[in-house]
Amino acid sequence: MLEKEFWKKKSLLEMNNEEWESLCDGCGNCCFRKFIDGRGINERLYYTRISCNHLDLRSGKCTCYGERFKVNPECIHLTKKNVNEFDWLPETCAYRLLWEKKPLPEWHPLVCGNETLIEECEVRIKNGIHESEAGDWEDYVTSVEFTHGR
Ligand code: SF4
Ligand code: SF4
Repeated sequence: MLEKEFWKKKSLLEMNNEEWESLCDGCGNCCFRKFIDGRGINERLYYTRISCNHLDLRSGKCTCYGERFKVNPECIHLTKKNVNEFDWLPETCAYRLLWEKKPLPEWHPLVCGNETLIEECEVRIKNGIHESEAGDWEDYVTSVEFTHGR
């Protein structure tokens, strides 16, 4: 049983396993490729709609979740050990939001109590394409962030 609004009372590092896991809204957006280009003040992080081949593009769920680290050695495990590297995650991701001391959005299942608002608010990346079918990543950029100084 999750404590009411535990994410407002505990830091990420203080959460237990159940609390930690419940933060994931299942959007699947972290399974889309990102690319860093440029250096120093010109460094940019490019988000794309190119996904891991193991992502179900309709549901946003991993098709090999239980074995994902074996099936895909590049799959990143989000843990308390790498929490200070969460700035690569999508801006909507609860792990990144809480690490940056920002509130969870109203559509987050922990806040609204269901998963329907994720669909209504269109949080998931649209028009995804598996990397096995994609061409040059520059053609699939969805957004860009400046990374210098953050
Ligand atoms: S982006 Fe964050 S909330 Fe979405 S699936 Fe990945 S870890 Fe979960
Ligand atoms: S293997 Fe990892 S990156 Fe690929 S879809 Fe599954 S969770 Fe996402």
